[in-house]
Amino acid sequence: MSLVQMKSLLQKAEAGNYGVGAFSVANMEMVMGAIRAAEESNSPLIIQIAQGRLPFSPLHIIGPMMVAAAEKAKVPVCVHFDHGGDIDIIKQALEIGFTSVMMDASHLPIDQNIEIVGKVKDLADRYSASVEAEVGQLGVDEEGNKTKGTFYSDPLEVKKLYDCTKVDAIALSIGNAHGLYKMEPKLNFDLLAQAKAMVDIPLVLHGGSGISPEDFRKCISLGIRKVNIATANFLSIEQAARNYSKQDKRDYFMLSSEMEKGMYQNVLEHIQIFQSEGKA
Ligand SMILES: [Zn+2]
Repeated sequence: MSLVQMKSLLQKAEAGNYGVGAFSVANMEMVMGAIRAAEESNSPLIIQIAQGRLPFSPLHIIGPMMVAAAEKAKVPVCVHFDHGGDIDIIKQALEIGFTSVMMDASHLPIDQNIEIVGKVKDLADRYSASVEAEVGQLGVDEEGNKTKGTFYSDPLEVKKLYDCTKVDAIALSIGNAHGLYKMEPKLNFDLLAQAKAMVDIPLVLHGGSGISPEDFRKCISLGIRKVNIATANFLSIEQAARNYSKQDKRDYFMLSSEMEKGMYQNVLEHIQIFQSEGKA
């Protein structure tokens, strides 16, 4: 069985100084493509789905599929619930067997963020699952809506949240954003280094689609261990479907196979950038 907790997976990455890709999935082809890429490159893997995506991919259907795929994988796979905003839904994910959950209360003042994350940590402990929290708010949320501005993470708040909750990983806002960047983002590496100096735990970078390989590597050298990739996966399988639709002779199963391949290629590319190849 290869379903693993996020904590152990990221601690290994910390010791080996590499990053682990956390790839958003929305259907079976994406789950299969991600796992095939990780198996072929002998890499650890995180597959995840955000609460905001559940209207398209209901949790009671996609969740058990993600867990089943992880259990049968030949490499360690963590199944993570991304951007949870609701403790009842987080509990449903834990019941299904997710080994990690994120409680995103980053839009609230830090004391309220800490209080809610603390409750989720108590809950997740009962399932031996890991917890990710976020400090600071990204300019664009997971569903593509503009937040009220980009609020850079305050390293003192990062420390406070960690000291009070002992979460397993913390996501930062250092100039990254969800969705596609209009221009190449300018990441605040000093801020990342300051936060890392405050808390000796794995840090998380959201909004990974469109960050350059050099910037990814720099982030990893400064303590980012989990890198979230969502938009690039969706673009990659959409493009694969678009290319396939240009062929004269088509059938659904070949289309499905091309979509799986689209995910596979994007995941493989990121595994190589994050240097988790051979680290399973
Ligand atoms: Zn995110």
